[in-house]
Amino acid sequence: MIDHDCSKNPKRHTATPAKPYHFVDSGLPNVYLIGVKYWTCTKCGTQSAEIPAPERLMNVIAESLVMKSGMLSGAEVKFLRKRAGKKAADFAALINKTPEHFSKLETGSLPLNEPTDKLIRLTYGMLIADQELLARISANVEEWLSSIDLGKKRAGKITIKKAGNSWSDTA
Ligand SMILES: [Zn+2]
Repeated sequence: MIDHDCSKNPKRHTATPAKPYHFVDSGLPNVYLIGVKYWTCTKCGTQSAEIPAPERLMNVIAESLVMKSGMLSGAEVKFLRKRAGKKAADFAALINKTPEHFSKLETGSLPLNEPTDKLIRLTYGMLIADQELLARISANVEEWLSSIDLGKKRAGKITIKKAGNSWSDTA
């Protein structure tokens, strides 16, 4: 039980590249924000950030996942599926998986293979039909598909930068 009001004991910070804000509310373990204002409770260390344009931020995170090299993690698959507004069973059907199989991909108890990873990214892109993302993909689709380099070790951090009241991935 928390015996105090965290917002009464704030220490204010601005997240920098050297000390980014760990954005656990994204639902992903590896998303960090730069440029955002946040405060830390001096009693218990709880952090809270001011997040402008949260919908835009979530879309930029999704975009960054679609464009990243290295395989998607189960949590990242789940993130993209939820951003696309699909129930697990419906998304599974779109990529020709049984709900049971797809559920194991999301929990990470089954590893993704390369064709499925690419199909999930493309399916997300088509479902969301975000102009900017589609433009990024189609500008150089062959290079993108080969640069995903799924054999490569997964990229670690996803870092998103606040730009005014919007967001951009720093890749
Ligand atoms: Zn506290």
